Amino acid sequence: MNTRHSARRPLWLAIAAIGILGSSIALAAGGPPRIGPGTMPLSPTEIADLKFMREEEKVARDLYLALDERWGSMPFANIVNSEESHMTAILQLLRNYRIADPVAGNLVGEFSDPELQSLYDSLLQRGEQSELEALRVGGFVEEADILDLLTAMEHASRADIDQTYARLACGSRNHLRAFAATATALSGAAYTAQIMDQKAVDAILTSPQERCGGPSR
Ligand code: ZN
Ligand code: ZN
Repeated sequence: MNTRHSARRPLWLAIAAIGILGSSIALAAGGPPRIGPGTMPLSPTEIADLKFMREEEKVARDLYLALDERWGSMPFANIVNSEESHMTAILQLLRNYRIADPVAGNLVGEFSDPELQSLYDSLLQRGEQSELEALRVGGFVEEADILDLLTAMEHASRADIDQTYARLACGSRNHLRAFAATATALSGAAYTAQIMDQKAVDAILTSPQERCGGPSR
């Protein structure tokens, strides 16, 4: 509204006009949160996936930190950095979509999701038994991560979220290759799949290391 013109109108007309304008602004502000122009909000499943993946990447990072401290062996130390970058990639998405960070305020080994808390606790116990078992725990986490990322990708309706999950899954395949190769070097036995199909795992292990792009490896 042009204020110079409205100033010449009777006062009641100006007040009425402001009232109509004000209520239409209030209506727009009270609607569902808009993420960029012309986009629909994320579905509850997409939001739950982002929160879960943020914490699942933390399970990986915190476990590898603990197992590196316990065994001091490769490849844990290297992969910790990569998991840290995976956590940051999901945090960026949470921020972009204005979703509360489930990791906020949690220390190493602390999780908001009770399922992930008990997963972490049991895997840590397993990984402390022997160096070989620790490497198998690494393999377990990567297999779980790949499967959960694939499920999340099926739910994802946005390119930015889908591409981030794809990049993280690429990193997970490289991590699985590293853990499996180190376990085989230590034990002399071929890596056996823990939750994925053996064929799917073999397809990853027999293909070369990938370049995943972005900050994650
Ligand atoms: Zn990861
Ligand atoms: Zn990983």
